[in-house]
Amino acid sequence: MENKFETNAIRNQLERSQYLEHSVPMYVTSSFVFDDAEDMRASFAEEKDRNIYSRYSNPNNNEFVAKICEMEGAEAGFAFASGMAAVFSTFAALLESGDHIVASKSIFGSTLNLFNSFLPKWNIETSYFGVHEVDQIESLITEKTKILYAESPTNPGVDIVDLEVLGTIAKKHNLILIIDNCFASPYLQQPMKFGADLVIHSATKLIDGQGRVLGGITVGKADLVDKVYRFSRITGPALSPFNAWVLSKSLETLAVRVDRHCENALKLAEYLEAHPKINWVKYPFLKSHPKYEVALKQMKAGGCVVAFEVKGGLEAGRKFFDSIKLLSLSANLGDARSIVTHPASTTHSKLTPEQRLEAGITEGAVRVSVGLEHIDDIIADISQALG
Ligand SMILES: *Cc1c(COP(=O)(O)O)cnc(C)c1O
Repeated sequence: MENKFETNAIRNQLERSQYLEHSVPMYVTSSFVFDDAEDMRASFAEEKDRNIYSRYSNPNNNEFVAKICEMEGAEAGFAFASGMAAVFSTFAALLESGDHIVASKSIFGSTLNLFNSFLPKWNIETSYFGVHEVDQIESLITEKTKILYAESPTNPGVDIVDLEVLGTIAKKHNLILIIDNCFASPYLQQPMKFGADLVIHSATKLIDGQGRVLGGITVGKADLVDKVYRFSRITGPALSPFNAWVLSKSLETLAVRVDRHCENALKLAEYLEAHPKINWVKYPFLKSHPKYEVALKQMKAGGCVVAFEVKGGLEAGRKFFDSIKLLSLSANLGDARSIVTHPASTTHSKLTPEQRLEAGITEGAVRVSVGLEHIDDIIADISQALG
């Protein structure tokens, strides 16, 4: 009998040790011991599948990776110290000098920075398509293109990219399709179903869910993950076993947490849509979202992030921020605590106003990561700040 998502998230765990613990212990150890010289030789020669050193693997990391693989329908994976370590190591492992990336314009600020400021050092260039211009992707592909890359929903514009369309293009042109699935979490969306070869998460967000630890993970096709693993076991971006333990525990409650995040976010989006002081609201499961139908096709619910613009531009936006009392002014998302962010002056301040507009960020745009507080209290705080 195949268990469902929620059951696997709780019941997939490491084998019990001789102490018969109920909850999986932390294996906070940098290395592992061998029986004899032959055992050690065979282990290093990879004739045996076993833990050697926690830069390569660790029981807590293995459990975390196995759970995410099960959730995403992936064959293999590797866990990283942060989402950006996952992004960088994946690209560094797969690309050669001269290779070319085609990526969505609306991607995480640090990823954009990596593509524009660092990968060119190794002669790797990126061309960008707008989230509403997927029909132009094919014109950007050259014989050097190796990777097609996108996020959906996007940060912070909450735009939706049609994953099935990307999957079809990647297959036709023999590209590796990589999706940053951080905003959806593995509970709401599984990009491999639509043709992704690799899926990346910043586990810092919804997977941790309580703003405690950094983490990242890349999962997907075994041959590609093996390349990522070979690169990473040498270069050392591994997730710490302590953080892996925290994150694997968090997965036990992912479904119930994300259900409530989405319920609260939809209620807030509906409230804002009817508010006279708001220019626009974007949330994937609002009928007014430009890609509502695509969101319904590829997501189970709309996620925790709502974007909107207060009437009156930058000044009104600042005033709104200064009037917030309960919600946190912070840059994280997917936390139990609701968080409001002003992307133009914070996460995306290193971009020019034109680049920001291309990424869907107007100067007065506000991003709310809707948390798990009572929705009445979340709405009351936003309501008084708008007043
Ligand atoms: C936060 C984030 C990242 C980077 O993750 P870190 O854990 O902060 O390194 C990458 N992609 C998206 C979409 C994110 O929101």
